[in-house]
Amino acid sequence: MNVHGGAGGSSATADDVADEIIETLRRWVDEVVVPESSPLELADEYPTAMAGQMEEFGLFGATIPESHGGLDLDHVTYARVIEELSRGWMSLAGIVNSHLICAKLIDRFGTDEQRDRLTQMATGKLRGCFSLSEPDSGSDAGALRCRAVRDGNEFVINGTKMWVTNGERAGIVALLARVPEGDPSGSSGITCFLVDKTPGKHSGGITVSRKIDKIGYRGLETVEMSYVDHRVPADRVLGGDGHDGGIGNGLRWALAALELGRINVAARGVGVAQAAYDAALAYAKQREAFGKPIAKHQAIAFKIAEMATKLHAARLMTYDAARKADAGERVDLAAGMAKLFASETAAELSLDAMRIHGGNGFSTEYPVERYYRDAPLMIIGEGTSEIQKLVISRALLADD
Ligand SMILES: Cc1cc2nc3c(=O)[nH]c(=O)nc-3n(C[C@H](O)[C@H](O)[C@H](O)COP(=O)(O)OP(=O)(O)OC[C@H]3O[C@@H](n4cnc5c(N)ncnc54)[C@H](O)[C@@H]3O)c2cc1C
Repeated sequence: MNVHGGAGGSSATADDVADEIIETLRRWVDEVVVPESSPLELADEYPTAMAGQMEEFGLFGATIPESHGGLDLDHVTYARVIEELSRGWMSLAGIVNSHLICAKLIDRFGTDEQRDRLTQMATGKLRGCFSLSEPDSGSDAGALRCRAVRDGNEFVINGTKMWVTNGERAGIVALLARVPEGDPSGSSGITCFLVDKTPGKHSGGITVSRKIDKIGYRGLETVEMSYVDHRVPADRVLGGDGHDGGIGNGLRWALAALELGRINVAARGVGVAQAAYDAALAYAKQREAFGKPIAKHQAIAFKIAEMATKLHAARLMTYDAARKADAGERVDLAAGMAKLFASETAAELSLDAMRIHGGNGFSTEYPVERYYRDAPLMIIGEGTSEIQKLVISRALLADD
């Protein structure tokens, strides 16, 4: 069943449809994801069945236009979807997120021919990933070294990419590489290529050289990929080859896509924070110490109050940024603030939940230890908290 499926008759408003999507997901998360995710996560096993269900829900096309078979969700609804997935298991949000960043780049900046690929991406049968980071450049993305050198009607790519989420399963990589100086554009040359590959460890000159072992965000693969003399046709330059196409525009476009990505990371933070809060509240009501439930001790009750307040603020900030994006407004400030606050809140609340669980919080029998391991990713991915502060302060200090 597609989550857009049973939205009711033509009288259903967009809000009704959004509520129904969220309700369907919430039920699935409660009935399937919450009980089944911990063993998979601890074994670092890919959730094949859950990803299949997400395909059936249409989530791989969540933000892809309806004209290409996607759900075309607005930012607020998509943030709520990510929040629900992350409340169950944050890795599920990662399975769709870098795929949808790749799709967003194609939709916003691609040629008509490139946009045709979205139809297959919306089904989830063609998976995308996003590859900007390298071993020596993350926050300083402009320092990337991967090179694409023109050779007739092709580009020859050499370099190593790091931290490619979904890199092994992807059939299309939004790859940022530097087209050397002397290119007709005369720009710094960072260009986005839509690199086709066969899912798996080797494809042409591409090797998935290493699967990175992670403390959290497990189950889905994050890999290192190397390119050795890998040839890509010139029509795979995002936006088209040449002066008026995508040569030299890659970094600007990638950073624009990441601005929206930050709303999604904020929503992941809200989802993990909600899960931590729910677990802490339930545990505090049933665990007794000194003759009464620990929730009746004011220190714990106040912690619950603080957790709920921060969670509420993080959610409001995330929806505010998403609403601004839906209204077509600039979102650098709002998305940066939401990402900063929601990711730090997720980290704080996961530790608070662990404290409230006492020794049990340190045991793999309770899910709070997973929230504690997953939360730091939101502080690092798609721009660290320090980088968000740079983005926020630049927006605040900019001359009018
Ligand atoms: C699990 C995981 C999945 C990921 N998935 C992807 C993916 O799919 N695609 C992709 O392209 N990337 C991905 N990344 C990479 C991620 O975006 C980078 O890790 C992140 O941007 C930080 O870069 P870095 O690790 O190189 O840290 P660095 O940039 O080396 O930063 C190290 C420290 O220095 C601080 N710092 C750096 N510059 C400044 C500054 N100017 N002012 C103040 N402090 C500064 C940082 O905040 C950080 O605390 C992923 C990362 C992880 C951990």
